[in-house]
Amino acid sequence: MTIRPIIEVPDPRLKTISEPVVEVSDATRALMDDMLETMYHANGIGLAAIQVGVAERIIVMDISPSYREDDAAEAETEAETEVEAEDDKDDEEAAEARRWRDLLKDEKPRFFVNPEIIWTADETRNYQEGCLSVPGFYDDVERPAQCTLRFLDYDGAPQEIDCDGLLATCIQHEMDHLNGIVFLDHLSRLKRQMVIKKLQKAEREKADQAAQA
Ligand SMILES: [Zn+2]
Repeated sequence: MTIRPIIEVPDPRLKTISEPVVEVSDATRALMDDMLETMYHANGIGLAAIQVGVAERIIVMDISPSYREDDAAEAETEAETEVEAEDDKDDEEAAEARRWRDLLKDEKPRFFVNPEIIWTADETRNYQEGCLSVPGFYDDVERPAQCTLRFLDYDGAPQEIDCDGLLATCIQHEMDHLNGIVFLDHLSRLKRQMVIKKLQKAEREKADQAAQA
């Protein structure tokens, strides 16, 4: 597996509409492995192929709490301990242990090829989003609170899942990337321009430093 460079705003490639994958091949899986490694390395929870410069409709994701938060990892250990000694614990603690077990049970790396949102809820939700292609900037984006996604999995098999909470937000954020949209495009023009200017300035400073070295 290889960590690939992540492209950042305002790189014009991020505006590309990505192409459907014709067949989930070994090359596709190698790309997904690289993407996951790249995402973990950058401490992200989702990554679209275009963010490593590949215009294919592929997303990788891992929203597992154990990976996302240090204290969640601790809670996981506690939950395991509690499972072993559940009889000795009161109901409240056992419930907390079960909650963590349930949370972690279905959390894992996820791979989405040719994903399509086939349903969105009318209800919306605000979530503070960030993006590996917009480093250091976070802001609230309002999106449908739930959605249903159809896609091909790591083995190329068709799947359908109902998404809620962070998963629904993350799916929609990554789907945007496949359509050439970054989350800044959901914000006011003023805010977007401010962020882009800051990123360009940081980029220039990095280039200047490299030139001096
Ligand atoms: Zn993003």
